[in-house]
Amino acid sequence: MDALGPDDHVVVVGAGLAGWRLCEGLRRHGFAGRVTLVGAEPHLPYDRPPLSKQVLAGRWDLDRVALADETRAREIGVELRRGVRAVALDAATGEVTLADGTRLLPTRVALAVGVEARAFDTPSGGPLSTLRSLDDAVALRERVAGLEAGATVVVVGGGFLGAEMATSLAARGLVPVVLEAAARPLVGPLGEEVAGWLDGLAADASIELRTGVVVRDVVAGPGAWRVELADGEIEARAVVAAVGSRLDLGWLEDSGLDLDDGVVVDAGLRAAPRVGALGDVARVVEVEGERGARREHWQVAADHADALARAWAGAEPSPLAPTPYFWSDQYGKKIQLLGRPRADDEVVRVVGAAGADRWLALYARRGVVTGAVALSQPRALMLAKPLVDAGARLDEALAAAPWER
Ligand SMILES: Cc1cc2nc3c(=O)[nH]c(=O)nc-3n(C[C@H](O)[C@H](O)[C@H](O)COP(=O)(O)OP(=O)(O)OC[C@H]3O[C@@H](n4cnc5c(N)ncnc54)[C@H](O)[C@@H]3O)c2cc1C
Repeated sequence: MDALGPDDHVVVVGAGLAGWRLCEGLRRHGFAGRVTLVGAEPHLPYDRPPLSKQVLAGRWDLDRVALADETRAREIGVELRRGVRAVALDAATGEVTLADGTRLLPTRVALAVGVEARAFDTPSGGPLSTLRSLDDAVALRERVAGLEAGATVVVVGGGFLGAEMATSLAARGLVPVVLEAAARPLVGPLGEEVAGWLDGLAADASIELRTGVVVRDVVAGPGAWRVELADGEIEARAVVAAVGSRLDLGWLEDSGLDLDDGVVVDAGLRAAPRVGALGDVARVVEVEGERGARREHWQVAADHADALARAWAGAEPSPLAPTPYFWSDQYGKKIQLLGRPRADDEVVRVVGAAGADRWLALYARRGVVTGAVALSQPRALMLAKPLVDAGARLDEALAAAPWER
C-alpha cells in the first residue's frame, strides 16, 4: 500500500489494543493526516489480558487496564468515536457507515474489530455469562464479590481462559469447578503429548478440573444454580462459560472483502487497496501456507499495529519478522508459546522432565524448529527464541542448546 500523506484520513474501526496501537503508531511514525478511531464500546481503549487475571482476582482496580485517556488521544490528534458501531463498509470507496447514520469517507480504513466470546447456550438458563469485555468483567466481579468464601463457582471450559478464570476465582477464596468437554484441555494448541504434561496442574493448585464432561443444562434456583451434567449435577453460586471465541463479521458481508474465518489479508495486512485488517480478526495469508493463520494473541495484535502503522506512514518496515507469542497465567504457573507450533509437530523436551513444574519443549516439522512452549521457564524460552525466529534446523538447535547457558 502506498504511504499516506497529510491530506489523508484514516478511520480505524475497533478501539481495542490493535486499533489504539495503530493510532499511536501512525503518529509515532510520522503520519500527519486525520485519524478517527471508532469503537463499539463506550469505554476508552483498554487491555483485556488483566480482565481474567488481576481484575477478576480483585488485585487491580479497573482504571489500571486503560490503554489511553481522552488527554492522550487529544495530544496525538485522534478523534474518538466511542459507543458507536460501524455497520457497513464499502471496501472499494472506503466509506464506513456508523450505527448512528454517520458516513465517513476516509482514504484508508483499518479493521481492528477483534472477536467476541462464543456463547454457551443452556435450555433453561439461556446463554451463560462470558468474559470478553470490561463490562463482562465488571458484571462477573460484582457477582462473585457478593459470595462468601468457599462458595462453588462453575467454569464451563478448561482452555486458557477458563483456567485463568478458575485461578483468579480461587485467589478470591472461592471454589471453582472447571468442566471441560474434551478428555484433556489444550490439546488443540499444544498437541496431545505436551497437553498431557499439564495434567496435574489444576490439582496441584487445589482446583477441581473435570474432563470429558457434558453439561446438559444450567437451571437457576433461589441464590444458586444447578448445573446438570450427563452423570450428575453440581450446585453452584455462579456459573460462567469460557468456550472460545466467535467472529462478528456480518456487517462486512457486502463490503467486497474476502471473509474466510476472519478478514483475509496479505503479508502486508492489506485486505483491499484502501483497507487493512489487524489483530484477532485478521487472517494473514502468505505467511503460513495458503490459508494462513488468525491468532488471538496480544503480542500479535501489537505487532500488527506497528507493522501497519509503519507501512501507512511510510516508515522503515520493522527489521524483524515478528514471531507469534502468547502467554497464559494459570494454576499458579505461566505457559508461554512462541512461534507457529502445530499439534501434530514433533516435540522434544529440552529442559525439565515430564510432569515437572518447569520445562521447555521445542516443536519441529520436517527437521525445522517451528515453535517452543514453556512452563514457568521464561528465561529458557527467551534463550530459545532466536532459534525459533530463524527457523533453525532441529539438530543444530539441540547441539547449540542456548537454554543451558
Ligand atoms: C479475558 C481475556 C484474557 C486474555 N489474556 C491473554 C493472554 O494472557 N495472553 C495473550 O496473548 N492474549 C490474551 N488475550 C487475547 C488478547 O487480549 C487479544 O489478542 C487482543 O485483545 C486483540 O486485540 P484486538 O484489538 O484485535 O481486539 P479487541 O481487543 O477485541 O478489540 C476489538 C474492539 O473492536 C470493537 N468492535 C467490534 N466490532 C466493531 C464494530 N463493528 N464497530 C466498532 N467497534 C467494533 C470491540 O468492541 C472491541 O472493543 C486475552 C483476551 C481476553 C478477552
